Amino acid sequence: MPGVLDRGVSRLNNYMKSTKFKNFDKAEYEIKLRKPRKELVAEGICDYPEHDRLNKILVNPHQDDKKVLETVIHELIHAYIWDLSETKVTRLARSIVRILSSLDIEIKFKER
Ligand SMILES: [Zn+2]
Repeated sequence: MPGVLDRGVSRLNNYMKSTKFKNFDKAEYEIKLRKPRKELVAEGICDYPEHDRLNKILVNPHQDDKKVLETVIHELIHAYIWDLSETKVTRLARSIVRILSSLDIEIKFKER
């Protein structure tokens, strides 16, 4: 029976989920569903794109699904368009999630 606890377990399974990609300038990134350090306060962080290392994005998985999606999109925008202002990144990510939502497109965690 699915419930709060099962959902928690499912989130735990997703805890260290990660994948890699390269931005427009071929800087390599690894994105992980892991809570950024507490002192950072943010729900997501994105490294400045460097070419001689594996850059990191961390996204806190302990948020509702829509917020996780918005944070992933937000940090991806930083990785691809570093010079875009924080305000515009925030607006674009919110806009994408809202538009997807309005089209009844929903992205959920896979239950495992
Ligand atoms: Zn940001």
